[in-house]
Amino acid sequence: MARPVPAKRLKPAEQARIAEIFDRFSALSDDPRTELDYRDPFTLVVAVALSAQATDKSVNKATEKLFAVAPSPQAMLALGEEGLIPYIASIGLFRTKAKNVIALSRILVEQYGGEVPLTREALQALPGVGRKTASVVLNELRIEPAIAVDTHVFRVAHRLGLSTGKTPDHVEAELMSKVPEPYLSRAHHWLILHGRYTCVARRPKCEECPVADLCPSRHLFLAGGPSGAVASRPRRRKIASAA
Ligand code: SF4
Repeated sequence: MARPVPAKRLKPAEQARIAEIFDRFSALSDDPRTELDYRDPFTLVVAVALSAQATDKSVNKATEKLFAVAPSPQAMLALGEEGLIPYIASIGLFRTKAKNVIALSRILVEQYGGEVPLTREALQALPGVGRKTASVVLNELRIEPAIAVDTHVFRVAHRLGLSTGKTPDHVEAELMSKVPEPYLSRAHHWLILHGRYTCVARRPKCEECPVADLCPSRHLFLAGGPSGAVASRPRRRKIASAA
C-alpha cells in the first residue's frame, strides 16, 4: 500500500458525489482495460516497464514486433540486450529499459521457472519494476486492486476533488480510501482514460465530460463561468515524484 493518509470520515454528501462519479464511469465502460497490448503476465510486465515516460501507442508499436520473436523470458534472454535494443530504440530510456528487461527475464528463468511471480513483493524486486509498474500489473490481472498514479490520474484526482496529495503515493492512498470498494479495481483505468481523452492537461473537454456536474474544477475551465467571464487556467500542479 501507498503511505497511508490519516483516516478521514467523508460526509454523506461527499460519499454520494464520489459514488456517483464512479457509477457514471462504470455505466460508460464496465470493464476498462489497459491500452497496452499484451498476451500474458510476462508480456504485460515488459510492456508496462517499457511504458515509463512513453506513450502506450509507441510501446505497442515496438512490442508488436518484439513479442513476435520474444514472447517469453527464455526467448527474451536468448535475444539479449543488444538484440533487444533495435526493437525498442524508438522508446525513451531504451538502453536502461533493455538492461532491465533482460535482467528481469534472467531472474524469471533462473528463479521462477519462467513464470512471473504475481505478488507485489516479488514483482517490485524485479529490475525496473517499481511500485507503479507492480500496481498496474496486479490491477490489470485482477489480482490486487491498486490505483497506480501517473500524470493523468494525478491531474484528474485533483480536478475532481478526490485528492489534495502532493505526491503520487499520497494521491494513491487517498484514492484507495475514497473510491467505493466495488470500483477499486477499475478506478485506475477510468481515471487514466478520462485524463487521456477528456480531462486532458491543457484544455479539458468539460463540455463533453460525463461527470462535469460533479466536478469542483469545471468552472475554472468553462467559458462564462460563475462570473460570466472566460475563466483562466489554474496553476499547474507539479507531481513531486511521479515514476
Ligand atoms: S468537468 Fe472538466 S475539469 Fe472536471 S473532470 Fe470533467 S473535464 Fe476534468
